[in-house]
Amino acid sequence: MNDPIETLIEAALRGATLAAHVTRRVQAEDTLRADALAKAGDEPVTVADYASQALVLRTLRSAFPRVRVISEEASSSLRQGENARVLPRVRALVSDALGEVVTEDDLCAWIDHEGDSDHEIAVTLDPIDGTKGFLRREHYAIAIGVLRRGIAVGGVLVCPKLSRGDPDGEGLAFTAIEGGGAWELPIGGTESRRITASTMTNPAEVRVLASVESSHGDPKLVDDLIAALGLGEKVRIDSQVKYAVLARGDAEIYLRPRSKPSYRDHVWDHAAGVVIATEAGAKVTDVDGKALDFTAGSRLEHNRGVLATHGPLHDLVVATLARWS
Ligand code: AMP
Ligand code: MG
Repeated sequence: MNDPIETLIEAALRGATLAAHVTRRVQAEDTLRADALAKAGDEPVTVADYASQALVLRTLRSAFPRVRVISEEASSSLRQGENARVLPRVRALVSDALGEVVTEDDLCAWIDHEGDSDHEIAVTLDPIDGTKGFLRREHYAIAIGVLRRGIAVGGVLVCPKLSRGDPDGEGLAFTAIEGGGAWELPIGGTESRRITASTMTNPAEVRVLASVESSHGDPKLVDDLIAALGLGEKVRIDSQVKYAVLARGDAEIYLRPRSKPSYRDHVWDHAAGVVIATEAGAKVTDVDGKALDFTAGSRLEHNRGVLATHGPLHDLVVATLARWS
């Protein structure tokens, strides 16, 4: 019998591939900016976030109805006030993607699907990670993590704006299961290749990944680290695409310091990327070198920021940051 995690990852990849067709379509439309809606806090959300979540959770639910789901969006904010005007559009996008007419109730039930709260397997879902990048027509990811008893054991990252140099390609997908390595394949394709993280130690050649959005981190701390260690290029990319870039060996450090002391990262912003980067050979912890703890619900309550890099560099970065804190 197949390992359930393997079957779950296959379903997650199917759902995210379906979702990617919709997100690519919406991102290319002239109405993209007008499709951005207000949500609590200052994070934008678009029709594509809801359509993506509906498609991924419909796919996962039909294969694994009881697995717990921890996801970013809820239909309540889609039904509320001004936002209700786009409900028919989300419905049309999802109906088109499935080739069947979807009712509003079905759509909302898929978006809100949570499974059993005490199931030992949980799926984290960010239907569009990096919505601000998505709105700039830059990088974003559809991110699905798998937790077993709170340990991150599987991940799928679908990155429609990342390519192997082919600007017309559909983008790249990444999958990993604990102990099975990290894999890259074209979205919708089948030829996967195993990927490994870089082990470059020459400081001047070490590339450092950081957010595009300054308010999502602490750009000064990243710049101070680069200056202190004499590191090379700083590469700013939205979303968990950073983990994918690290995992395929195109950068050496992803440093995500907290934007403010009280900020706790969402689990759906990391679970998928952490497994993919770890399986590619990187070490992922918080900025103190502490293991990430996914057991505390929807946020990483017990961690300060995130650091992903390879072994020798990891010790050096943690020691350097510790001297400053
Ligand atoms: P990035 O594209 O790496 O900047 O990360 C995007 C994610 O940052 C979004 O999915 C948000 O959940 C998250 N985010 C939003 N506000 C903050 C903040 N103040 N500090 C850190 N992350 C944030
Ligand atoms: Mg996100």
